[in-house]
Amino acid sequence: MTIPNPAAAVRYTAIDGYLKALKMPGALREYRTLAREIATPGADPLALLEAVLAQELESRHRSQIIRRMQDARFPYAKTLDTFDFTAAPKISQTAILDLARAQFVDLATNVVFIGPSGTGKTHLAIGIGRAAIHQGHRVRFTGATNLMNELLSAQAAHELPRFLKTWSRYSVVIVDEIGFVPFSADGARLLFQFFADMYERRSLIVTTNLEFSHWVDVFGDPVMTSALLDRLTHRAQMIVTEGESYRLRQALAQRSRGHESAS
Ligand code: ADP
Ligand code: MG
Repeated sequence: MTIPNPAAAVRYTAIDGYLKALKMPGALREYRTLAREIATPGADPLALLEAVLAQELESRHRSQIIRRMQDARFPYAKTLDTFDFTAAPKISQTAILDLARAQFVDLATNVVFIGPSGTGKTHLAIGIGRAAIHQGHRVRFTGATNLMNELLSAQAAHELPRFLKTWSRYSVVIVDEIGFVPFSADGARLLFQFFADMYERRSLIVTTNLEFSHWVDVFGDPVMTSALLDRLTHRAQMIVTEGESYRLRQALAQRSRGHESAS
């Protein structure tokens, strides 16, 4: 049976109060356990301080990653670990793992995923985005059409500068599905402005099902389109995802397995 120690209880209450006031939730959660573990005769008192501070730092790092994952607004949680590179032999695993080290973010260069629907473009973009968050970057995911609509509303509300500023805190912006829906002339102009704003300062990851020669069909203006492509491709790594839709192949494989077991 442990004998209650009133002095210790008072001390715990005081320490709890300090750690709450200092907003140190990791230390608050763990310091009693750490104190018990470290309290051996002759133990270095600094060892406890060190362990408590390390715990707090670690806990802040973890919650920062959780916050940034939420803030990124990924449509679903895909990681590079679950990407089957054997099913996509055209995609260089080395190149993708290199991108996951997020050096391109420090250099503010871009990544363009280009290929047909269902070939893993969005999956890889999310996976690289998540990896960048783990390296300490702020990342934001958006669909191209959605971004255009938000730009148009911001402009209509005379809030374009403020809207653009909210994006400037991200060091990586993922714009998904360029080319699925043509842009209005106003929308295209705003997207050009958005991309120009980012150029050489922050990294852009773009996914598209359209070859560059067809971009003018969705952006409209040939001069602006070629200026955009010029910038985008000048400082960009191109990842071509080819072949048939992964989902379609999965579904077909499943169906043929079904037929086999039925026969
Ligand atoms: P895209 O953006 O090119 O249209 P997605 O990335 O959305 O394609 O992929 C479609 C679905 O197939 C997603 O659920 C994705 O996780 C999965 N997928 C595609 N390629 C692969 C792959 N090589 N390994 C594992 N899953 C894949
Ligand atoms: Mg996609």
